[in-house]
Amino acid sequence: MNLKEELVEACHKVYERGFVSAYDGNLSARIDENKILITPSGVCKGDIKYEDILEIDNYGNRISGFGKVSTENKIHLVIYNNRPEINSVIHCHPVYCTAFAALGEGFTTPVFPEVVLSLGKVPLCKYATPSTEELPNSMLPYVEFSWAFLLESHGVVTIGKNIQGAFYRMEKLEHSAKTLSIARSMGREKTIPLVKLKELYSIAESTYGIKIDKRNRLDY
Ligand SMILES: [Zn+2]
Repeated sequence: MNLKEELVEACHKVYERGFVSAYDGNLSARIDENKILITPSGVCKGDIKYEDILEIDNYGNRISGFGKVSTENKIHLVIYNNRPEINSVIHCHPVYCTAFAALGEGFTTPVFPEVVLSLGKVPLCKYATPSTEELPNSMLPYVEFSWAFLLESHGVVTIGKNIQGAFYRMEKLEHSAKTLSIARSMGREKTIPLVKLKELYSIAESTYGIKIDKRNRLDY
């Protein structure tokens, strides 16, 4: 499967999972240091076809393809221009995560150990008007170390070294937001005690091969 086929498959998956509705969201993958594949605006991710995918440069100019470049391409460029190791960005509006974003609540307390390890701190990026520079600017304080970003009153951005990595982070975050929401309907969630959290971090690299940036840890 080539990169464009992989991107089309991820588009169909985010739509089937209900992470987007109608024309919501956009997905991208980096081809090389100068070229990015990205979904066009105004096409439902569930219906997207191979020939719909656009190629843009690092400034958001279309290099090939026929559709319109989404105004939300800035969300993608802010990541690619600041994180050389990242090759895929996914932006969606999944229901449970976006409900937390509507409450103005990021995921910054340790509840589920595997989420602590795979996603780290998920910051709430201050509300910004879509399509303006305000939106990528709201992500800037976290761009160097976060793997997922909650956009206040809007949605989510996840990133990965490849498309699969970005997709699984979106799926994992939405799954944990749903679980947390159900837990809160039954009571109040418990957080992992600090001593156990430190223990988890101490085995992260040796057991799971995960290196965690200090700025992304929940015990600071
Ligand atoms: Zn959006």
